[in-house]
Amino acid sequence: MKVVVLTGGVGGARFLRGIVAAIDPATVTAIVNVGDDLEVLGLSISPDLDSVLYALAGISDEERGWGRADETWNALASIEALGGESWFRLGDRDVGLHIVRTNELRTGEPLSAVTARLTAALGVDATILPATDDAVRTWLDTPNGSFSFQEWFVARAHRDPVDRTRFEGATAARPAPGVLEALHDADLILIAPSNPFVSIGPILAVERIRSALERRRVPCVAVSPLIGGRAVKGPAAAMLQRLQGGTTAAHVTQCYPGLIDALVLDEEDAADAEAVSQLGVRPVVAHTLMHDPAARKRLAEAALDAVAFA
Ligand code: GDP
Ligand code: CA
Repeated sequence: MKVVVLTGGVGGARFLRGIVAAIDPATVTAIVNVGDDLEVLGLSISPDLDSVLYALAGISDEERGWGRADETWNALASIEALGGESWFRLGDRDVGLHIVRTNELRTGEPLSAVTARLTAALGVDATILPATDDAVRTWLDTPNGSFSFQEWFVARAHRDPVDRTRFEGATAARPAPGVLEALHDADLILIAPSNPFVSIGPILAVERIRSALERRRVPCVAVSPLIGGRAVKGPAAAMLQRLQGGTTAAHVTQCYPGLIDALVLDEEDAADAEAVSQLGVRPVVAHTLMHDPAARKRLAEAALDAVAFA
């Protein structure tokens, strides 16, 4: 069985760890958001690809929730002392990867090829693909102005309410090599419990990825990032409230019109199941908080088993 997972960073990476614990990692392809990518101090940084890579390599920091375990911050301290750009948190070990990636991109290698090499170097058996090798950049329109994703998320701590998301470059963006093939060959497509607007949104903004999903012949199952109508972390609930009109599992379902066949929702939201069902999507109630390896694996199994298929 081949499984494709559409994913953002932290929430998606946690879910992917459960998936590769539940099934053979070699059968798993992650299609990862690149809308958050940025350049800092001349370094090309892909936060969501790195979260997925570090998580699947088993070297992510579980407590902090992002970046690498056993991280030190000497480079950043030095950058700060020298008056360099220091708003974006870069750990020493993390910087090592950014230097390698930046250098390879500069020789003209596409991001997908660089990612494949990094994945192999870290001994990860799953396939990790950027949604696109082209530049797609997320912008948020807010009452206080328009901000690039990282400025809004990191520098302004995602406090500005979002009126609109825009994905610069998405119209012209082509799926990265392997993306359409993976979707075409998949027996099951999963949407991780990632932020629907700023993690999954930029992936689906690539027209040929969205149309491949619309024309799928296999089930697509999403996992809700909300528990009890609240995000485990980050701006998902606030965005759902403002952009979708509410934070129930039905509102999550409506983020993926015509794109999903089942939604895994939390036990706390079990009362929403009927409303999800009325939208033509099968509700699957499960324990969705991934607080330890066993919980991650159980949630992965709930998503994998959500739709019975031949
Ligand atoms: P980002 O790119 O690093 O922001 O990460 P994602 O978009 O992949 O994940 C962020 C989302 O993951 C948030 O909306 C969280 O609510 C969700 N999330 C994080 N941990 C969990 C969890 O244990 N269970 C569920 N259901 N969602 C989670
Ligand atoms: Ca992200």
